[in-house]
Amino acid sequence: MPARTRNTAQRQAISKRLEELSVFVSAQRLHEELARGGTKIGLATVYRTLQTLASDGTVDTLRTDSEILYRYCGTDSHHHHLVCRLCGKTVEVAGSQIEAWANQIASEAGFVDVEHTVELMGTCASCAANRS
Ligand SMILES: [Zn+2]
Ligand SMILES: [Zn+2]
Ligand SMILES: [Zn+2]
Repeated sequence: MPARTRNTAQRQAISKRLEELSVFVSAQRLHEELARGGTKIGLATVYRTLQTLASDGTVDTLRTDSEILYRYCGTDSHHHHLVCRLCGKTVEVAGSQIEAWANQIASEAGFVDVEHTVELMGTCASCAANRS
């Protein structure tokens, strides 16, 4: 199989598995999930493919203290996430008040082309229930 075809197949396998999982996972964890499902892709390839998917906007990334987590994101437009610290469950949130606040702060300071990233981290209802 030519390299390009193989890369495309791996890329599809990786983004499909990530879409099925629908939570933030590390490259390591995704690599394990793929192996469990019978898809043998090297960890280095999983890393590289996730970086490519992240740079073209197919996946969201989340930087924690120790690692980068990835999640398939079906939404192209600008949005934010509410993420469970324990299980990675994610809720996509529109943040119109955040947008208004950011625009106002930026224009008051005379800034243009302002971008922002806002991620809300917490404990989801089921993890909170399990804990008590
Ligand atoms: Zn998203
Ligand atoms: Zn949770
Ligand atoms: Zn925003």
